[in-house]
Amino acid sequence: MMQRELNFEGPSPILYLIATPIGNRGEMTPRALEVLKDTDFIAAEDTRNSGQLMSYFGIDKPFISCHEHNEEEAGAKIVSLLKQGKKVCFMSDAGYPCLSDPGQRLVARCLEQGIKVSVTSGPSAAINALTCSGLDSTHFHFEGFLPAKDSERAARLNELASNPDTLIFYESPHRIFKTLLSMAATLGDRKAVIARELTKAHEEFIRGTLSELCLLDENSLRGEMVIVVSGAEKKKATLSDTEIALALRDQLEWGKSSKEAIKAVCEHNNLPKNKVYDIYLKNFKRNED
Ligand code: SAM
Repeated sequence: MMQRELNFEGPSPILYLIATPIGNRGEMTPRALEVLKDTDFIAAEDTRNSGQLMSYFGIDKPFISCHEHNEEEAGAKIVSLLKQGKKVCFMSDAGYPCLSDPGQRLVARCLEQGIKVSVTSGPSAAINALTCSGLDSTHFHFEGFLPAKDSERAARLNELASNPDTLIFYESPHRIFKTLLSMAATLGDRKAVIARELTKAHEEFIRGTLSELCLLDENSLRGEMVIVVSGAEKKKATLSDTEIALALRDQLEWGKSSKEAIKAVCEHNNLPKNKVYDIYLKNFKRNED
């Protein structure tokens, strides 16, 4: 059954997800701090790590440990506290919970139990890397971590090889070269960017092709990294002349001018303008005269 209730009004309890800094503590938002100061409990992926962050901001609240291996039991406890009217926030180690981090099962459990969910916005390594990559950001695919096993990683990259969207991967420093080599072998020599140590003092973007990135000095790739890779080149459409004429007719029937119709057919089918224009001249120009 559909349920509808404004997040910040109405009787149902709410779980707050807190996006936390990915390196630069200055990126903790005032709103996140306001929500945290008002909360009764902080559930955290790593209570030690989050404890240090909270003490830096002068926040002292009881912690609940909620990580990949206990998310079910911790989730039950958190739901029970929320139902008793307690305020609970959840944070992972860095960035957004649920993005290659725990939280998704907790969110699903809360929603099943009629508990609302909100998030205080903040940094995410994937979005920081994508926006500075210079690669096409119209459509992107967030992959997160590839499988650690060589054969599984190659198989997954093979599945992604035809995806035209910009691809975003997380990787740990000790696997970065294996991953770059595997990417170059499977995806071909595409443009790629390594976004390293985002928001930290040694933030760096290394731009090149996958084969160029494979030649980097391994020792120079320390710290946390995101790899952004351009998507597969869109294949040229193989429409017949008749199909192109039909596509043009559709556009013209929708009331488009000849110029707009030609432009739309070229863009939708990745066709060269002169070809579509010739077909337009042969099939429609006389009718319009
Ligand atoms: N939840 C986080 C987010 O929203 O970005 C991601 C957590 S995931 C466990 C950790 C991975 O994110 C790292 O291995 C790295 O690939 C990427 N990452 C996190 N912080 C980063 C940073 N400051 N610079 C570059 N990559 C980072």
